Amino acid sequence: MEDSMAWEELSGIPADPPEMRNRCLQCRRPVGVCWCPGLPSSPLNAESRIIILQHPAEVKRCLRTAPMLSLSLEPDKCLTFRGKKFPGTKHEGLVEILNDENTILLYPTADAVDIAELPRVGVDGQSPYNLVLLDGTWPQAKAIYHCSPALHELRACKLVGVPASEYVIRTQPTEGCLSTLESGALSLSILEGKEWLKDAMCGPLRYLCKFQLDNGAVTHQSKEFLIKQKTYPKLIGKRLAKQLRMNPQLSS
Ligand SMILES: [Zn+2]
Repeated sequence: MEDSMAWEELSGIPADPPEMRNRCLQCRRPVGVCWCPGLPSSPLNAESRIIILQHPAEVKRCLRTAPMLSLSLEPDKCLTFRGKKFPGTKHEGLVEILNDENTILLYPTADAVDIAELPRVGVDGQSPYNLVLLDGTWPQAKAIYHCSPALHELRACKLVGVPASEYVIRTQPTEGCLSTLESGALSLSILEGKEWLKDAMCGPLRYLCKFQLDNGAVTHQSKEFLIKQKTYPKLIGKRLAKQLRMNPQLSS
């Protein structure tokens, strides 16, 4: 009995573990859904640095944009620290960064200023910035902020009037909420006054979205979605639509 169970366990182990097979060495995604062809032909040399403070749970999500950010920039222009509060003892070099007067935090505090109002790099002697981004879901980002008093000391800024996310596959909690890549790319292009930076950095995201749309994922702005959300209740009348919502069994 025990022998046969042991055999079953052994036979359940794939000869070639799936995670070792056909992974892109750069983005670590399965080769079929690798977004590296969308990366700039060589890493971009921005003047400022992006500092990603990443919630540990973010690492497990299957669609992440922080790696796109770090791979599109020169290695020393994008640093990632992982944790739930910052700075922690393992975050080598982060204390110095947080104490730097050119370090700013992208986070919508009550007194956060429009990032477009900050002096541009190179104008009036403004040095390159360290732009701190919190990477995770919105509740995770909020938790990081609340657990990290050092972040409260930073100058906070926010993106005002942001365009809709290009990342149409991943549901955004609210309209105007951007992925980590888009936030970083847009912020950097504003801080450095280089519009092209944003487009060049968002290449992998566009590549991935196009790939997923071509392969059948439904965009939340798709015709199908809009018809269901808006037109359908109109077609059947508001009263009936309301009744259906209140008594879902009527529609089945
Ligand atoms: Zn890849």
